[in-house]
Amino acid sequence: MLKTNVFHHLQFFRRVRSQGIALGNRRLYSNTSGTSPLTRSHVVAWVLTASLTAGITGYKLGHIGASSTFTPYTAPGEKPRFGTPRDFQLAVVELKRAFASDSEDEGQVSTDPEELERHGFSMYDYHPSAFHNVVVYPRSTEDVVKIVNIARKYLMPVIPYSGGTSVEGHTRGHSTGGICVDMSQMDAIIEIHEQDSDLVCQPGCQWMAINEALQKKGIPLFFPLDPGPGATIGGMLSTGCSGTNAVRYGTARGEWFLNATVVLPSGEVIKTRSRARKSSAGFDLTKLFIGAEGTLGIVTEVTIRLAPVLPTTVAIVHFPDVKQATEAVTDALNQGVGIQCAELVDDRFMHATNLNGMSMRKWPERDSVFFKFQGPSPTALRDTAQVVKRVVERHGGFGFTLAKDEKEAGNLWADRKNALFSTLALVDDPNVRILGTDVCVPVSNLPQLILETKEDLVRNNILFTIVGHVGDGNFHAAILFTTPTERVAVVEAVHRLVERAIALDGTCTGEHGVGIGKKQYLRSELGKGTVQLMKRIKESVDPLGLFNPGKLYPDDEDDEHKA
Ligand SMILES: Cc1cc2nc3c(=O)[nH]c(=O)nc-3n(C[C@H](O)[C@H](O)[C@H](O)COP(=O)(O)OP(=O)(O)OC[C@H]3O[C@@H](n4cnc5c(N)ncnc54)[C@H](O)[C@@H]3O)c2cc1C
Repeated sequence: MLKTNVFHHLQFFRRVRSQGIALGNRRLYSNTSGTSPLTRSHVVAWVLTASLTAGITGYKLGHIGASSTFTPYTAPGEKPRFGTPRDFQLAVVELKRAFASDSEDEGQVSTDPEELERHGFSMYDYHPSAFHNVVVYPRSTEDVVKIVNIARKYLMPVIPYSGGTSVEGHTRGHSTGGICVDMSQMDAIIEIHEQDSDLVCQPGCQWMAINEALQKKGIPLFFPLDPGPGATIGGMLSTGCSGTNAVRYGTARGEWFLNATVVLPSGEVIKTRSRARKSSAGFDLTKLFIGAEGTLGIVTEVTIRLAPVLPTTVAIVHFPDVKQATEAVTDALNQGVGIQCAELVDDRFMHATNLNGMSMRKWPERDSVFFKFQGPSPTALRDTAQVVKRVVERHGGFGFTLAKDEKEAGNLWADRKNALFSTLALVDDPNVRILGTDVCVPVSNLPQLILETKEDLVRNNILFTIVGHVGDGNFHAAILFTTPTERVAVVEAVHRLVERAIALDGTCTGEHGVGIGKKQYLRSELGKGTVQLMKRIKESVDPLGLFNPGKLYPDDEDDEHKA
C-alpha cells in the first residue's frame, strides 16, 4: 500500500544495507552548512530505483547525522515546550486508536523502526537528525485534523513529509521525537479543468505522475515545475521549488499554485482563495505557505495551473569562458524567442562527461550551454535555433549543435541530466562522496560568482563540476570528497560560496530551500527585521511551536552566541 516512491526508497535502503553501507551508522559526518552528500554506490543505487519509476537520472544520497540541536522558543524557567516521553507514548496510543483499522494492510500508523528511520533520516544530506516516534499516513483532510489535535494535546512536534526529496534536512526527525505526517497516500487527482488550464489534487501527487496522467488522457497540458523525481505538489509548494524550466515558466513563487487547503496548527482548516485565475482579495495567503517548509500548517489540497505542451528540441554551444556564456544567454533571452531551458556547465563538467563515457559524443572540454527550445511547430523551433545561434556566436560561442530529431534531442539532454554520474567519474574510488549545494545571484553577477568559486575550489585542491540554471543566475556545485579531512575542506568551501553569493546581492538558496542547512544565513541575507517578522508570523500561526521545529527560522541570536 505504500506509494511507489516510498516503495523504491525502501528498496534502496534494503539494497544499501545488503551492500553493507552504514546508513544507520552515526559515524557519518554531520554538518550545518547546507550541503548534500552522495557516494558513488548511493548514487548508483538511488538512480537505478529512481530511473525505474521516472526514467531520469538523479542526484545524491546521504547520510545519517547526530542528534539535532534544536533551540526552543521558550525562555529559561518557562514551561518546557514539548511533552515528555510519557506524553509521546500516550499520543502514539491515541493515534493508533484514532486510526484503528480492521483491514489487512499496514494501517495508517506505523512505529516500525525501518519506517521511523526512513522518515527521520534522509538519503540526500548530512544534517543532524533523530528518529520520529511515529509515522502517520492520513488519507483525508479530516485525518490530518485528527493528527494535529492529538499533537497539540500532547505537545508533540509535527513533521510533514511528502516525496522526501528535499536536500537541506527539511524532513529530519526532531531531537525530542515527534509525529511524521506522511502525505504520500493523499495522491489523488481530484478534478481536471482543461478549459481553465488547472487541476485540483491532493498534496501527495508527484509532478511527474500528474504530467503522465495528463498525457495518457490526451490532454495537451502539463505542470512545468520540475524539481527532483519523486517530488510532490505538497513538498514543492512548501519548498518554493523550481528546476530547469524556470527560465520559461518561473518558480513555485509565481502563480502556479492557485490555492491551497491547509490544516493550521490550531486544527482549523482554511482554503487560501478560490480557483479564479487571479484575485486581489486581500493578502495572498497561498504565498504564505509557499516556502514555509511545513512550519505553518499541513497542505491537504491544492489547485495548480497548467501550461500547454509544446514541441521542444535541444542545442548545445561552447564558449571561451563563463562570462561570455552568461552574456550570450542573457542576450538570447532578450530576443523573446522560445527558450525553455538554458543550462550552463563548466569545462570540468564537459571533461567529466567525456570521461564518464555515457555520452554519444566526445565534447570540447569548454564552458558550454545546453539550450532547450520550445515552439508551436518545427519551423518555429528552427527559427528560434537560428536566432540563438546568431546571438551566441556574437559572444564567442562556437560548435553550435542542434539536435536533428527527437531522439538526438533526448541524447543531448541526457548529457546534462547525467551530471552527477559524470561528476563521480572524476574520481576512481568507490568511496567517493558528492556534496551538492545551490545559491542564486543576479544573472550579471553569475560569472564573478563562478570564477571566484572555481578559484577557491582549485586553490584548495577540491574536485568539482559546476552546473547552473544560467538564465536565472542559479548556481549548483557538485563537490567531491573521499576522506573526513577533505570533507571538512568542502564544507568550509561551501560556506564561503554561500557568503560570496550573499555579498553579490544573491541568496543562500535559489530553489532547494532552507531546512536546517541554510537557516544560519537568513539573517545576513534578509536582515534582522525581516527574520524577526518571519518569526512573529510563525509564532502567531503556531504559538506552541510544534510544526517542523528546528527548520527554516534561524536560532535566536542569544543562543547562537552561547553556542
Ligand atoms: C535528484 C534531485 C534533483 C533535484 N532537483 C531539484 C531542482 O531542480 N529544483 C528544485 O527546486 N529542487 C530540486 N530538488 C529538491 C527537491 O526535489 C525539492 O525540494 C522538492 O520540492 C521537494 O518535494 P518533496 O515532495 O520531496 O518534499 P519533502 O522532501 O517531502 O518535504 C519538503 C518540505 O515540505 C514540507 N512538506 C511536505 N509536504 C507538505 C504538506 N503537504 N504540507 C506542508 N508541508 C509539507 C516538509 O515538512 C519539508 O519541510 C532535487 C532533489 C533531488 C533528490
